[in-house]
Amino acid sequence: MSTINTTPEEPKPIQTSAEENASLIDTSKMNAGQRAALEMTEAARDAAAEKTSFGSDLFMGRFDATKIFPFPEQSTEDRDQGDAFLQRLEKFLKEKVDPDEIDRTGEIPQEVIDGLAKLGAFGIKISRSYGGLGLSQTNYSRAAMLLGSFDGNITALLSAHQSIGVPQPLIMFGTEEQKRKYLPRVAAGEISAFALTEPDVGSDPATMTTSAEPTPDGKHFIINGEKLWCTNGTKAGVLVVMAKTPSKMVNGKPRNQVTAFIVDVNTPGVEVVCRCHFMGLRALYNGVIRFKDVKVPRENILLAEGKGLRVALSTLNTGRLTLPAACVGLSKRCLEIVKDWAAKRVQWGANIGKHAAIADKIAMIAGNTFAMESMALFSSSIVDRDKKADVRLEAAMAKLWGTEAAWRIVDETMQIRGGRGYETAQSLKARGETGIPVERMMRDCRINTIFEGSSEIMRLFLAREALDPHLKVAGAMLNSQVPMGQRLKAAMKAGMFYAGWYPRQWLPGGSKLGRISLHPVLKRHMRFVASASRRLARRLFHAMVRFGPKLEREQVLLGRFVDIGTELFAMAASCSRAQSLLKQSAPEQQKELIGLVDYFCSAARLRIARNFDGIRRNVDAKAYRCAQSVLKGAFPVFTRIVP
Ligand SMILES: Cc1cc2nc3c(=O)[nH]c(=O)nc-3n(C[C@H](O)[C@H](O)[C@H](O)COP(=O)(O)OP(=O)(O)OC[C@H]3O[C@@H](n4cnc5c(N)ncnc54)[C@H](O)[C@@H]3O)c2cc1C
Repeated sequence: MSTINTTPEEPKPIQTSAEENASLIDTSKMNAGQRAALEMTEAARDAAAEKTSFGSDLFMGRFDATKIFPFPEQSTEDRDQGDAFLQRLEKFLKEKVDPDEIDRTGEIPQEVIDGLAKLGAFGIKISRSYGGLGLSQTNYSRAAMLLGSFDGNITALLSAHQSIGVPQPLIMFGTEEQKRKYLPRVAAGEISAFALTEPDVGSDPATMTTSAEPTPDGKHFIINGEKLWCTNGTKAGVLVVMAKTPSKMVNGKPRNQVTAFIVDVNTPGVEVVCRCHFMGLRALYNGVIRFKDVKVPRENILLAEGKGLRVALSTLNTGRLTLPAACVGLSKRCLEIVKDWAAKRVQWGANIGKHAAIADKIAMIAGNTFAMESMALFSSSIVDRDKKADVRLEAAMAKLWGTEAAWRIVDETMQIRGGRGYETAQSLKARGETGIPVERMMRDCRINTIFEGSSEIMRLFLAREALDPHLKVAGAMLNSQVPMGQRLKAAMKAGMFYAGWYPRQWLPGGSKLGRISLHPVLKRHMRFVASASRRLARRLFHAMVRFGPKLEREQVLLGRFVDIGTELFAMAASCSRAQSLLKQSAPEQQKELIGLVDYFCSAARLRIARNFDGIRRNVDAKAYRCAQSVLKGAFPVFTRIVP
């Protein structure tokens, strides 16, 4: 059945600059630390924020099926190029790499690093003219899938090097001279790293203490400070270092500036203080790096002075796609493990896969893996289609959803393997069983919801972007810091916008689903996505009206909106990909594929329903009060371990 758009044209949202955006948020009730963090992040928001994407449209009730159907196909030429590299990489991993030995010793043998360099694995996306393989984002994600299925340590080495290390920011922001100097080196295997974190700088770069002072002639900067947990830092030849440069006056007030520098590790004053060790990723070359009067030429600034956070955020927008892709590989490996084990392990007179409790877990692993892969491939294709496209929301959703799903998947894989899941691969082998490394995979995978934007920060980021169109329309009206005349003007503009937009959220249509030929099961789920997107937009608007500027503090509530939008993206990406796979599948496979996607979408709809319900009925306020009492030490019963 086709749906015809009979609703009025939606008014265009008001366009604002990044500086104006910052003033759209009422910071008057914030403490100095919160205000500094917000102002700095707002100023660094990507200019792409002015456009809309499939992901951002979902939160505004503007689901547009033509933005996700048909599922983007990789061209044969691009696929062949990727396959040629992936075959070489797979052969090398199988023949030369022993992940359990790497985990046991905490070292990646130098011949493995050299072999990877020879294959071009350190310069997958770097263009051939600079000595790289020049592969697409989709092929890079496919390589991350392969690596993620094989070994977390090598995945982290290559990902920290090229997703956040020198290659990605240089490709995006480097001058021709910087590219010519550094890209051939890093493509050939000189390891690079990204240094932002400090003991007091985790998720909040506003508190950065590493400083870069210009020399009197302005030709150099002198860096002083210490960076924590710098992955690849103990092996790197070159680093991207974030440092505070002299503050700038914005609206009569000094604003902190962060600048990104390319720093050669052999520059006098750079010192690797120590190597850090973790629960998993035991062969991560991660360390504390100290900078003592390190003199760096001005030419080594990336993008511009004061634009470091923009470099970091933009780099991560694309760089963040590596983790969900690696999680796809890990999840497929889990699926392989549970498929074999649940079919052969007999308990209580049947294969454990026949027991409903285990079958339920296997379905979850399969459905979520398909959705994760669909999100990762769709998001990668956005980058390949247009290097300047806005992929921030899709990448953040894929990272948030993919890393959380992968953790559940590895946890349930351990449960299905029972005691053998908890036993180390070495111990299994020593007893004569196959060394299936679920225990190592679990240790290696836990970090994924913490680094490259923790789940909490991803939800805040996505909530900020979800609210962005509303802030542009109504932010100034609600901001007590804005003069009354301006607020009244903004109120009139907002009134006009919402008079068109709000009624539209109650009307069906506009999704363009009618133009697309779809399997009936997929169509049913896509109709749900379209109507749930409008419901999401209405509920978000109601929350804004109810809480006003205080909505920003309702993190748990906002998290539910974000989770609904993210599930809708997962459903849409899965249905779109399934529709395109149907064409290539035999009838029996088609039935199974539809069964898989129907199961996944039905389960996602239940999660969405729970989140909608949680918007109205929740214990958020009680939980917050309880946590504050705990923090104040109000319950002496907890201060004694033994009652
Ligand atoms: C193995 C490993 C490798 C790493 N590699 C690198 C690297 O290569 N380069 C680099 O620069 N850094 C690296 N990091 C640092 C990593 O990016 C940080 O750990 C991450 O940013 C979180 O910072 P944090 O650990 O200080 O946690 P914090 O920022 O202190 O956060 C603690 C908890 O509070 C939550 N939280 C923080 N702020 C808020 C808020 N406003 N609202 C709600 N919740 C909040 C967080 O989500 C988290 O759950 C690495 C870390 C590890 C462990």
